Amino acid sequence: MAITTSPQSAPPIVQVRGLCKDFQLGDQWVHALKGVDLDILAGQFIAIMGPSGSGKSTLLYMLGGLDHVSEGEVAVAGNQLGSMNGEQLATFRRETIGFIFQAFHLVPTLTALENVALPGIFAGADREMRETRALRILTALGMEDRLDHRPNQLSGGQQQRVAIARALFNDPPIIMADEPTGALDSKTGKTVMNMLRFLCRKQGKTIIVVTHDANVANYADRKIGLQDGIITEDSLIRHTRTTSVPPQPIIKVNGWRAAEEAIVEDAAYVE
Ligand code: ADP
Ligand code: MG
Repeated sequence: MAITTSPQSAPPIVQVRGLCKDFQLGDQWVHALKGVDLDILAGQFIAIMGPSGSGKSTLLYMLGGLDHVSEGEVAVAGNQLGSMNGEQLATFRRETIGFIFQAFHLVPTLTALENVALPGIFAGADREMRETRALRILTALGMEDRLDHRPNQLSGGQQQRVAIARALFNDPPIIMADEPTGALDSKTGKTVMNMLRFLCRKQGKTIIVVTHDANVANYADRKIGLQDGIITEDSLIRHTRTTSVPPQPIIKVNGWRAAEEAIVEDAAYVE
């Protein structure tokens, strides 16, 4: 089934058709995804749930252009990922997706400020702009007194805030998170989920969270259940306010200001 879009309505920001992913392990093949069809509307908060090994991370990596599909089509924000080369995919990821991982993946030798500002180097922003923006986002997330701390000097929750700040640095329209609360205590996990919800509601970000934690679904608009590489459940939890918050365009360096101010303005929301 090919991806087609109607000219009248805005197409879903994510469109997946017949997605299969196989991994070769010695002489065995692992069929991690066995034909996934999925449309995600801009501004929707999606929880992809399922037991360990059901293919959640694999699906997220395919949506984020981190790995190639074995079969099928993935289109994200108008990009057909299957037809892009490595360099195009890198640009796509930088401009379109902010990634948050369970293990934070911060650079251990860099400070919180430097970790957050890192995507700005690849985007070609000058140092002053990078640091000003990183400072503002970290301040908005309640981390202004930890700017010079290295990851090993921060708690798990603080490291995840740094990772969220970094994911926001290029102001991507889509945030993807793989078990973002997996390494956190439940209170800190709730704070992180509230932050993601806030980004969806107040900034119109599309949020895709992969988790095996049933509580996380409480924050989502829609729950996708995955079992053994197949979608077994797709339920709407609450209606997405996709019309009241228009999807953000892919914003380049000089378009940072508005989003930055929105984060700072609503900072009080975050604890
Ligand atoms: P989940 O995130 O739901 O726990 P994954 O997407 O990580 O599941 O994995 C789905 C299946 O694919 C599992 O059986 C896993 O072992 C397998 N798998 C994932 N990545 C690889 C890989 N790089 N090589 C081989 N098998 C893999
Ligand atoms: Mg996983």
